[in-house]
Amino acid sequence: MTQRMHPAAALGPSPAFAEPVVVGKPWTPDRGRLLALIGDVLDSGRLSNGGPAVTELERRVADLHGVRHCVAVCNGTIALELALRAACLTGEVVLPSFTFVATAHAVRRAGLVPVFADVDPVTHNLDANAVERVITARTSAILGVHLWGRACDVAALAGVARRNGLQLLFDAAHAFGCSHRGRMIGTFGRAEAFSFHATKFFHTVEGGAVLTDDDEIAESVQRQRNFGFGPSGEALIVGGNAKLNEISATVGLSQLDSLEQLAAANRRRYELYRQGLRDIPGISVVEYSLAERLNYHYLAVEVDPQETGLDRDALVDILLAENVIARPYFSPPCHLMPAYRGCSTRGLEETERLSRRTVALPTGPAMSADDIHLVCDIVGAAAELAGRNGGPSGRHADRKLGRSGSFAS
Ligand SMILES: *Cc1c(COP(=O)(O)O)cnc(C)c1O
Repeated sequence: MTQRMHPAAALGPSPAFAEPVVVGKPWTPDRGRLLALIGDVLDSGRLSNGGPAVTELERRVADLHGVRHCVAVCNGTIALELALRAACLTGEVVLPSFTFVATAHAVRRAGLVPVFADVDPVTHNLDANAVERVITARTSAILGVHLWGRACDVAALAGVARRNGLQLLFDAAHAFGCSHRGRMIGTFGRAEAFSFHATKFFHTVEGGAVLTDDDEIAESVQRQRNFGFGPSGEALIVGGNAKLNEISATVGLSQLDSLEQLAAANRRRYELYRQGLRDIPGISVVEYSLAERLNYHYLAVEVDPQETGLDRDALVDILLAENVIARPYFSPPCHLMPAYRGCSTRGLEETERLSRRTVALPTGPAMSADDIHLVCDIVGAAAELAGRNGGPSGRHADRKLGRSGSFAS
């Protein structure tokens, strides 16, 4: 275990932030517009069951991603479960363990067996070779996750799927408004599931959707979310209730026109973090391809404990003492959670390594440039102290605190 320093020693006796700053603070760009839209819904008397707000949201999200169908549901986990059910899979599904546990839950809840494959150390996404190694006669699908909004190696995964007669689906919970080789995420594989949770880039408080070009998948998800009803109003299949409500849909509609502005604001913060953390040994910020459309919603950082002189968990504790609520990702990874005891844990070295070193820092419009400078200074001071206490980072002993800067928005 890395040596604990007195947490508040990084920058002074009282926390650097008077109030806690968090990862994924929900964003409401235009509260007046939202309240007016909610008023319209209440006046209409139609609060759910495929009303005009959900219908408009589905059309606009489908158009934004260039996909035939967007079927909105009550959350992202259910979106994934219903997409998997719609694909009529059997047996095993290969997925990463380095993901939010809901990805694995959806597989299990759809009656399938999750088989975890390792991820690429650079992209953090499924490694196609690792996928190929765990395929058996029982495998029916590959479920990729576009982590941090960075697309999986879709072509490589599609190749593995084709050669082995498997279906390919994606968990796109992080990837609203993101592209891959110029084509929007949401259009890959047989279907992609999105989360519209309050902590995500685009949200409906709770919500999610299945995006697909496949008419059969879309029809199945539509039936499953509404008691199995077909056009006649009779239950054609056993379904449940997974509908998105009208109030939630208006929360989403009130954000749609501002998403480019949000992505630009996130990007400025990403650049600032990159500059601010660049010279701290052993701290690396995930890279995004400037050629793609991206939402820059996650500020994920890897901590090399040898280089930095302290490990990720020690850094998280120091940030916590300064009121910066950083989030270790994904710790523990799915295969080490009690719910998945009994699943194979072999060949997941990169997953385990990343799950010990990765952390998300607060970003987004609620964070000012000064706030970001301050977070970077805390990380720098923590590394410097660790270096002075025997680590290799003493060469940054002359690091200056208290730089300033500002954003237009
Ligand atoms: C948020 C998230 C989910 C679950 O979405 P909910 O809308 O919270 O149910 C699934 N997978 C990943 C990768 C996520 O980040």
